Amino acid sequence: MPPESISTTVVDGLALANEIRKELGEAVGRHVSAGRRAPRLAVMLVGDDPASASYIKGKRRACERIGMDSTEQTLPAAASQEDVIAAVEALNADEGVDGILVQLPLPAGLDANAITGCVDPAKDVDGLHAMNAGRLLLGEPCLTACTPLGIMEILERFEIPLEGADAVVIGRSNIVGKPVSLLLQRANATVTMCHSRTRDLRERCRAADVLVAAVGVPLLVKRDWVKPGAAVIDVGVSVVDGVLTGDVDTAGVDGVARIVTPHRRGVGPMTITMLLRNTLTAYESRIGT
Ligand code: NAP
Repeated sequence: MPPESISTTVVDGLALANEIRKELGEAVGRHVSAGRRAPRLAVMLVGDDPASASYIKGKRRACERIGMDSTEQTLPAAASQEDVIAAVEALNADEGVDGILVQLPLPAGLDANAITGCVDPAKDVDGLHAMNAGRLLLGEPCLTACTPLGIMEILERFEIPLEGADAVVIGRSNIVGKPVSLLLQRANATVTMCHSRTRDLRERCRAADVLVAAVGVPLLVKRDWVKPGAAVIDVGVSVVDGVLTGDVDTAGVDGVARIVTPHRRGVGPMTITMLLRNTLTAYESRIGT
């Protein structure tokens, strides 16, 4: 099919997220109707980063809308590593808490890996604990990072064939690039992982049936980087002159990509939705349903 005849679908991640949140809300409602307490997510913020505070507000609102409880704990930016770990351990011990999320990034001087590593793996709804990351690698059931889960949900709901597909993931972070590569591999795609030292990045991207950009470099992926008919997932979020910008030139790939996620109302709402789903999963395994 010549590139100009491709009709590109711009994924409405918010609409998709709302559909899934409705299903999650119904599941929460069934638990509550059966006389059980609602699932509870505990979010911890260290410091007063306004972007983090706004993300947390969004998560709290998302919980409320599906009848899930949430608690928020704020520690001062000057909190020590020991203070933060003690607060995480208190949440681990709290029987009423099903999911724990430590909002990242943490203030300089705190060791994020050591702190997320203290979260009880059964409550690790961000999927960052080594136990969950290891289980993902081994193909065992686990709580998996939310953005990769959201990406896989988008690909599934848009019926993007993954079996035997060539997938290229740009970015190799623990929270997006690595886990999404493993999930794509599990779905029988052939995955190439790219990063800042990759040679011929454009050529590698041009070979992709599925292209995931999780970089943080504004408009890195341009029209001539995309194979006609590819599914393009833009994870990146950057601010350029006060304007939110993704890793993909969304307008540029129009007429070439089969689907593209926009940087607004794309992957972001799906990430929060998967956080809700992970919290429900953690709750259900704790109460044994
Ligand atoms: P990260 O930890 O900073 O990782 C960025 C990755 O991109 C690294 O692997 C880096 O390579 C690679 N990279 C940097 N410059 C590159 C270049 N010019 N060419 C190719 N690769 C390059 O970032 P992250 O946490 O995965 O997040 C990535 C982006 O997604 C950020 O913009 C973040 O804000 C956004 N994000 C969005 C959501 C959402 O829900 N929408 C969720 C999470 C993250 P090296 O490993 O070689 O350094």
